[in-house]
Amino acid sequence: MIHQYDAVIVGAGIAGLTAALQASQTCHVAVLSKIYAPRAHSGSAQGGISAALGNEEEDHWEWHMYDTVKGGDYLTDQDIAQILAREAPQRLIELEHLGVPFSRNTQGKIEQRRFGGHTRNFGEAPVRRACYASDRTGRVIMDALYDHCMVRGVEIFDEVFITSLLRSEGKVCGVAGYKLATGEPMIFHAKAVLLATGGCGRIFKTTSMAFAATGDGFALAYDAGVPLEDMEFVQFHPTGIHKLGILVSEAARAEGGILRNGKGEAFMERYAPTLKDLAPRDIISRAILTEIAEDRGINGKDFVYLDLSHLGKAQLEQKLSEVTSFVQTYLGIDASQSPIPVAPTCHYMMGGIPTDAVGHVLADGKNQVLGGLYAAGECACVSVHGANRLGTNSLIDLVVFGKRAGTDIARYVAQNNLPSLPSGAESAVKEKAQGLLESQGNERISQIRAEMQKTMTQQCSVFRDRPNLEEALCKIGELKARYAQVGLSFKGKRCNYELEDALELGNMLKLAEAIAYSALLRQESRGAHFRNDYPQRNDHDWLKHTLLAQTPNGIQVDYKPVTVTRFKPRARTY
Ligand SMILES: Cc1cc2nc3c(=O)[nH]c(=O)nc-3n(C[C@H](O)[C@H](O)[C@H](O)COP(=O)(O)OP(=O)(O)OC[C@H]3O[C@@H](n4cnc5c(N)ncnc54)[C@H](O)[C@@H]3O)c2cc1C
Repeated sequence: MIHQYDAVIVGAGIAGLTAALQASQTCHVAVLSKIYAPRAHSGSAQGGISAALGNEEEDHWEWHMYDTVKGGDYLTDQDIAQILAREAPQRLIELEHLGVPFSRNTQGKIEQRRFGGHTRNFGEAPVRRACYASDRTGRVIMDALYDHCMVRGVEIFDEVFITSLLRSEGKVCGVAGYKLATGEPMIFHAKAVLLATGGCGRIFKTTSMAFAATGDGFALAYDAGVPLEDMEFVQFHPTGIHKLGILVSEAARAEGGILRNGKGEAFMERYAPTLKDLAPRDIISRAILTEIAEDRGINGKDFVYLDLSHLGKAQLEQKLSEVTSFVQTYLGIDASQSPIPVAPTCHYMMGGIPTDAVGHVLADGKNQVLGGLYAAGECACVSVHGANRLGTNSLIDLVVFGKRAGTDIARYVAQNNLPSLPSGAESAVKEKAQGLLESQGNERISQIRAEMQKTMTQQCSVFRDRPNLEEALCKIGELKARYAQVGLSFKGKRCNYELEDALELGNMLKLAEAIAYSALLRQESRGAHFRNDYPQRNDHDWLKHTLLAQTPNGIQVDYKPVTVTRFKPRARTY
């Protein structure tokens, strides 16, 4: 079936809905989601959204910009960090006007809490910059955006799985996929396409991300010849529930929670004397794993405690009700009485599809724009988070750059004609699915996926080195070969979630390879990328962005410079 729109947005999270709402002022817009749209992962964002509103204490966008650049270990493009920090307050007020029910302080203003790496006066002490709605911030923003998209006539297609980008006349002119319920191919023909498909945490065994976070958008762009930028920078959040990976939001430490090792010590004082438990995530994750490696885990085991017991039931109920209910449900623990066992969990991708400040996808290291294609949100790399994202800076990235992309899409749609639909658009989808459905191979998806997740977790996570990365790459190569022999046990077209799993696994294997490959190339330690064999940051050789592209002759590597404007790279201590 062929649908025609001015603009098609793949992804119904906060990035996709923000762009849709903006573009729909003048365009006919469709939003596509492989899951029921309101279930997009953005809805599980808990702790807050950053903006230097200064409602609780003095704050300035310049301080926010500085924290973002330093938090990103100076790999952040500073012109982009400036846009984020400057535009954040206005975007927050707009969200409030859309009806987002933020928590309020006693003066009736939006309440703000501290968060990791956000400081006053260029690093002096933590500042209250994170706006929030209890610990359900993403949920309430999603709901408001969704309602307004409905009012604007944005058409939302639930449970449509997109498998390819369509191109003609040198531009992107739509997407192709199929309806999960029926297996029927679906073509969306449009002047502009925005990828807002979220992250790819499911590549790792332990992650705080939803099952849908399989990196399909990264793979769509990568398959279309677009390079992926800075894929080595994967964030591990320090406080996932031990073994499960489910997030205990940083809001818990913002409200006063303390990390303790097996000796009961508040060990972050040793690693970050100024910010302690509110240091950036890369630093705390390494600290936790160092405590464990040096035998100071709890009872010699591979976790530490997050202690909230001193906060009291009332504060936990008011500010952290979701966190405490997760802990009760999954561990049977009352957080007001007992500490929570935690360990790092894969949480966020700093790298992704390279874009400029209005969401254009950049096709090469010279920043050539690929006409008709945009990206925003976690799948994009506008390079605002550099080598390590600060907590609450993703949600503000989604609304700042989602809105900018939506604005530019409206301009592009007004100025361009609809390119013709390439012939064979439908057959490309059919062939992709058919190949998997008809395969007689005996390899199993679950087995290959489990081996990929184990390899990435053991050999390419918080601490890395050359032998492990080389082994990981070798293993992923082997898994890719086995994937070509995958066979499905269910061959039907209706609701074939095994087929979806297979397509997602194909995407994840490519991205796992890109992550390990980029990590092997980068011979330094910066932000979330820590090499035991190169433990220092090396600005002389490595203050640059990695670009990896797929070519018929294998992976091609390129680099591009980091934009440095106000803040010269300095040693990063907290
Ligand atoms: C537990 C948790 C808590 C967090 N809390 C915070 C926080 O408090 N503050 C903060 O700043 N950040 C937070 N983050 C990070 C932030 O929530 C995410 O980075 C962000 O929500 C990603 O939004 P997005 O719009 O890019 O994509 P998502 O919200 O992930 O949406 C992706 C969309 O793409 C669709 N999609 C994907 N592939 C396909 C396909 N092949 N075909 C069709 N549709 C597809 C999905 O169906 C979905 O609609 C948190 C992350 C986690 C994991």
